[in-house]
Amino acid sequence: KKWVYLFHEGRADMRMLLGGKGANLAEMTNIGLPVPPGFTITTEVCREYQKTKQLDPEVIEQVNAALTALEQQTGKKFGDPRNPLLVSVRSGAPISMPGMMDTVLNLGLNDETVVAMAELTGNERFAWDSYRRFIQMFSNVVLGIELHNFEAILEAHKKRNGFTQDIELQAEHFKAIVPEYKAVVEKHTGKPFPMDPREQLMAAIRAVFESWDNPRAQVYRKINKISDDLGTAVNVQAMAFGNMGDDSATGVCFTRNPNSGAKEFYGEYLPNAQGEDVVAGIRTPYPIAHLKETMPEVYQQLFDLCELLESHYKDMQDIEFTVERGKLYMLQCRAGKRTPIASIKIAVDLVKEGKISKEQAVLRVDPEQINNILHPAIDPKAKLDILAKGLAASPGAATGMCVFDPDRAAKLAGEGHKVILVRPETSPDDIHGMVVAQGILTSRGGMTSHAAIVSRGMGKPCVVGCEAIKVDLEAREFRVNGRVVKEGEVISIDGATGNVIYGEVPVVDPELSPEFRTLLSWADEIRTMGVRANADTPIDAAKAREFGAEGIGLCRTEHMFGQGGHHPERMAVAREMILAETTEERMVALEKLQEMQRQDFYEIFKAMNPFPVTIRLLDPPLHEFLPDAEDLAIEVAIMRERGETGSELQEKEALLKKVRALAEMNPMLGFRGCRLGMIYPEIYEMQVRAIFEAAAQCNKEGMVVEPEIMHPLVSIVTEFSFLREMTDRIAREVMEKHGVTFKYMVGTMIEVPRAAVTADEIAEHAQFFSFGTNDLTQTTFGFSRDDAEGKFLAQYVEQKVLPENPFVTIDRKGVGKMVEIACELGRKVRPDIKLGVCGEHGGDPSSIEFFQSCGLTYVSCSPYRVPVARLAAAQAAA
Ligand code: ADP
Ligand code: MG
Ligand code: MG
Repeated sequence: KKWVYLFHEGRADMRMLLGGKGANLAEMTNIGLPVPPGFTITTEVCREYQKTKQLDPEVIEQVNAALTALEQQTGKKFGDPRNPLLVSVRSGAPISMPGMMDTVLNLGLNDETVVAMAELTGNERFAWDSYRRFIQMFSNVVLGIELHNFEAILEAHKKRNGFTQDIELQAEHFKAIVPEYKAVVEKHTGKPFPMDPREQLMAAIRAVFESWDNPRAQVYRKINKISDDLGTAVNVQAMAFGNMGDDSATGVCFTRNPNSGAKEFYGEYLPNAQGEDVVAGIRTPYPIAHLKETMPEVYQQLFDLCELLESHYKDMQDIEFTVERGKLYMLQCRAGKRTPIASIKIAVDLVKEGKISKEQAVLRVDPEQINNILHPAIDPKAKLDILAKGLAASPGAATGMCVFDPDRAAKLAGEGHKVILVRPETSPDDIHGMVVAQGILTSRGGMTSHAAIVSRGMGKPCVVGCEAIKVDLEAREFRVNGRVVKEGEVISIDGATGNVIYGEVPVVDPELSPEFRTLLSWADEIRTMGVRANADTPIDAAKAREFGAEGIGLCRTEHMFGQGGHHPERMAVAREMILAETTEERMVALEKLQEMQRQDFYEIFKAMNPFPVTIRLLDPPLHEFLPDAEDLAIEVAIMRERGETGSELQEKEALLKKVRALAEMNPMLGFRGCRLGMIYPEIYEMQVRAIFEAAAQCNKEGMVVEPEIMHPLVSIVTEFSFLREMTDRIAREVMEKHGVTFKYMVGTMIEVPRAAVTADEIAEHAQFFSFGTNDLTQTTFGFSRDDAEGKFLAQYVEQKVLPENPFVTIDRKGVGKMVEIACELGRKVRPDIKLGVCGEHGGDPSSIEFFQSCGLTYVSCSPYRVPVARLAAAQAAA
């Protein structure tokens, strides 16, 4: 089996086997670029190594053979005391993980070869500088000795000589430093620093394989959803020396600006330096344009090669180079990391330059990444009262009153307040507070803390590890730089910068740049699924249209009953309706609600005209519209204590009785959805009448309306046939009354397994299905979302019991199967049945790919996710 590839034996498309770095070094070699020769040990060896923790003898044999080839190519010999070959040993995974794993430079140096290097180059300083760098890197990467041990020695020497910069140190200083470095190694390992280059090489190769599993690489893979099974390749490459003097240099450049995407040569370099120096921030590097002055020919050659590479790969490249005594070497190229804005601009520009097709451009941009630029952001022009800065753990801006415990957060949010949950750190016990908060702020914890992970999962802004803030839970306040902020005071957090700001902040709605609009228009040409939005108000509807939604896939009606705190007067009427003792009493309240809702529907139809609007009838259990039982019980107890007996007390007692009667053990599976419409038909009739009245009005005004009425939580066909008949009857009545006709549809949510598996029966009556994948996930797994997300789901994902949070990305095997079954059964009975999805999965790229494979008619998601969904749907169709 072939475990080792010389650079000229590989190709760019072999990245899974050779890693990205190895594959591109091979490609650059083969198109004739000046790349120092070398070879790549495959990722397969890494996977074997993970299991056995050993290098197979066959691998060692092939490494030795490749080394011999390398010696022939360079005319140097590994460990040769006259003309030694020095190499770098570099990691390189199939998916780039910049800086996450380890690299060793100048390997092959020892007490003998360092002298040879000095003589050969006539540059003692260079040789001994390289040697001390090697000892330091090797000791750190391979022997696990912390860098500060070496830095302390270097600092001491600089201080003794009155130097401030490494560059001032001369050969004699390095010669004195080397034995001290070696002593550190001996002290830490009990063994002298290894002098045998082959021993050095094998140890370094093993260390790079080990580095695949170092903690920072693991965290990086988790955040970026990179599989742990890919493994890294190891590249062994002849050294090019950028530290040979002022005619030498090392640097990094991009073929376009990675922040803005502008077409300009961009980068930095350092003269007389090696590898890591540029990124390590030891000295301030020069902008790449400066190279044009100091080494004009090298600059021109580099510029031309970069252009060549971009044309070859048809994408913006990130390039590492080194100049050794005026000769340019290319050390790495890869598709450059870029901001979402740059990503869009570059994709669109490349199409305009004729380098890629529209389809390729659409596939280039990561929908998940562009989500970050679609959140409302703090107005960059605003003056901010910044209290402190923490880690930016989850993007977006949030404002609310600070609250220090989850129960209070839940209570205040229930009353319609916006809250920011502030905690030292969060735990699964805080989840109900996190769910209702606008954003989360913690004073402790890092980018992988509970707060950070859970917030990202919920798509909520979050700032963690803000240590300047001292949270006092007892006093319900936090202190920061001598200021005190108490519960109820308004603060803002910026999940993009980590800033914590006092007071409210002006936010700006994200703008779609012209390039972004262009890209999305190409996506629209390619995709076959429709994209609608979940929108409950005319404002949401307008936003959704601006982002390109082609209709509303889910208009929830609960806020029309006052839920969410926007219409307190409606809440009162809704309570009147719920508390009514007789049908007559209930009708009075319903009539008031009907007029209000008719107006709501009219506005929404108007905002969406001529696109379709799917309206879901009342879904939550009724007790959600009533006061909290515990609070009420306390009030009653206090009144009794005071000896009150009046009518106010009696009213409260009656209310409490009703609240208790409506309380449920398990509201998620309780008296909600169409079950309400079955038992209190007058509620649903009122809503349906309001919808049709609004439609009639629009119709008279010349608008095209075709309301789609959706009955939630149907599990039995009889429920649906009953509701369908009611809906049709009221439609007839309203049309007759106004002397108009308009089209409408009646359909159902598919959100419980029984509905999915009897979808053929239901499709006899239903004109469309909309998969409510949030509830369908709850009911298929038997997970209650509110309990699962905080209590065990995170751990399930952590321990790989589940590959992903099924509330974020659809569980294809189980919940997805339900969707497939329902689609198939539904189409069998009604071939042209309209099939949509309106759960949060409708905005998740991976789930969208799945819905495409099911042949759904459309996906529906929150307005801000619409551009993400348009792009993802195009990618799924491409
Ligand atoms: P990373 O993947 O973290 O970027 P690299 O393997 O690219 O690590 O190496 C780190 C640094 O060392 C880079 O600046 C690279 O250019 C430099 N380097 C690696 N190999 C060589 C070499 N053979 N000659 C000179 N510099 C090298
Ligand atoms: Mg690199
Ligand atoms: Mg539901």
